[in-house]
Amino acid sequence: MTLSLSDIIVFDLDDTLYKEVSFVKSGFNAVAQHFNASGYATELFDAWKNGENAFQHLRSKYSLPTPIEELLEIYRNHIPTIQLDINIASVLNSLVANGKTLGLITDGRSVTQRNKIKALGLTRWIAVDNIVISEEFGSSKPDIRNYEYFMSKYPSKSYSYIGDNTAKDFIAPNSLGWQTICLKDNGKNIHSQSFDIVQEYRPDIMISSLAEIIY
Ligand SMILES: [Mg+2]
Repeated sequence: MTLSLSDIIVFDLDDTLYKEVSFVKSGFNAVAQHFNASGYATELFDAWKNGENAFQHLRSKYSLPTPIEELLEIYRNHIPTIQLDINIASVLNSLVANGKTLGLITDGRSVTQRNKIKALGLTRWIAVDNIVISEEFGSSKPDIRNYEYFMSKYPSKSYSYIGDNTAKDFIAPNSLGWQTICLKDNGKNIHSQSFDIVQEYRPDIMISSLAEIIY
């Protein structure tokens, strides 16, 4: 490994281990299926891309009586058809083969994030009790507690956090002395990145592909 990685490598989930836009599409497909109207999926996605409230747009356009909350429930609770990129799977294989311990810190609802983790098959590489989901854990990034969990569990080790969100991913691990690595947006991320930020928020290292951490 050219990049000197820590003993404990903790990842963000959305837009780090897979592109969140694929989850959005999958959720809109699930809503379309609920109405048995496949065209709704494109309608929702286009409205979302335009920055509209996609569900409100759909309800208005087709005079649907279904409450927004019900559409949101379908979206949040659906079993997503998302896949782990084969190149990312091989990075995870390589890290484990090199003796690294892997973890995950992600913000979101328990059921939604658990469904994503299951669909991506991440527990092949990440132990179930190394998965910190904000709704279950009780605090969200950038709370330092979500990161300290790994320091308590694996004391006297070195730690890396790999994420994409410059507004919240790196400030806490920076303050705890972790190595921080940012996966650069390839233009498909949901949350835009800004590197015009104070030192405390900045990652130590920027990469264009997760494969860079092993080659
Ligand atoms: Mg993210």
